[in-house]
Amino acid sequence: MLSTEEAAAIRFNTNLDDILDTPEGKRIKSCIQCGMCAGTCPYGEYMDYPPRKIINMLRRGRLEEVFLSESMLKCVSCYSCMTKCPRGIRLSDILLPLVKEQTLIHTQQMPAELQKGLQNTLRYGNPMGESSRKRANWVKTAGTPIRILAENPGPVDVLWFVECYTSYCAGGQENSRATARLFNALGIDFAILGNEEKCAGDCGQLTWESGLFETLTDYNMEIFRKYRFNRIVTGDTHAFNAFRIRYPLFGFDYPLEHTTPFLAGYLDQLKPKLKKKLDYTVTYHDSCCLGRRAGSFDEARLLLKAIPGVKLVEMVHNRINSLCCGGGGGGMWLDTFFKEKGMERLSERRIKEAIATGADVLAVSCPYEISRFEDALKTVGHDKPMIVRDVVELLAESLGDE
Ligand code: SF4
Ligand code: SF4
Repeated sequence: MLSTEEAAAIRFNTNLDDILDTPEGKRIKSCIQCGMCAGTCPYGEYMDYPPRKIINMLRRGRLEEVFLSESMLKCVSCYSCMTKCPRGIRLSDILLPLVKEQTLIHTQQMPAELQKGLQNTLRYGNPMGESSRKRANWVKTAGTPIRILAENPGPVDVLWFVECYTSYCAGGQENSRATARLFNALGIDFAILGNEEKCAGDCGQLTWESGLFETLTDYNMEIFRKYRFNRIVTGDTHAFNAFRIRYPLFGFDYPLEHTTPFLAGYLDQLKPKLKKKLDYTVTYHDSCCLGRRAGSFDEARLLLKAIPGVKLVEMVHNRINSLCCGGGGGGMWLDTFFKEKGMERLSERRIKEAIATGADVLAVSCPYEISRFEDALKTVGHDKPMIVRDVVELLAESLGDE
């Protein structure tokens, strides 16, 4: 949870001058120009203005020049600069989204793919542009009971926020089915919002479409208030990020967990149910939002090690030093833009590390990453087959016929 000071610093509809008058703004001004942020940034070499230079321009009163650059469109909100900054400056939470917003206002140039994703989210409540009436269709093929609150609105322990990719896309639906199986196997009292759910809006916010983000936040908060539940669990790291970092500014104060650490809390009950041996060598990709931003590194590894037969190996960059898949901050909808600029796809950079471990499986805890890494596997040469699976899918597979 953010402190009051931090919350004040990232409140919406503010501008840089307002920010600089806050305690967080004073921290921005304390930058020692060490360049750690630029050095750790996966796309730093492609930016005219990486974070260090932005602060330098801010001090010189020349931020307008930064706003006219497309540098911040290349920021995938990976939190690496923020985590490494020795002055604790909240670059990815505060300064960089504001610069993004100003860049879009000044240049009026939003890449078409991203624009389409954001327009779809506003119109349909999901970036894919699917009908909101079909959001819960996947439930019919789940093969396990799933309660939808609109149909059965009594109190429930866990409100499971499914999110867009895991509702509509075939790869993501595998994640949802696995999660439902695990919840039922553990006897968890859970329910979903079904067609009432809309995108949490994290990527809209991190590309600083603040109007879109506020629309989605207001909507989802109203739906949450309709029902009685004890906690929210989501498998989508971006929804988790939005609820954890931004929604509290709009009154969100529900206990919140991501599915991976949530299930790790049930490890003692889960272990005896993992009866099917999976003879896989697995390497785990720490997502930016769950790992670097929220500090959850051990839980996924504990779950994977609990699966009989699984051998866990690490990539060169892991935990806080994990490499971003390139999908955050709107990056999901910027691959064409990045390609036009001659930039390496970060998912390809990462998959090469995964391949180098010799693993059979790349395990993830973010539904976006499945498609990103599966696409990267098609374009990066590899001799040994590799599959990409969410941790929950591997756990559900190990349940066998339970
Ligand atoms: S890492 Fe922090 S202190 Fe160093 S240049 Fe970047 S913002 Fe400034
Ligand atoms: S959040 Fe990541 S991509 Fe964005 S500037 Fe910082 S290090 Fe670079």
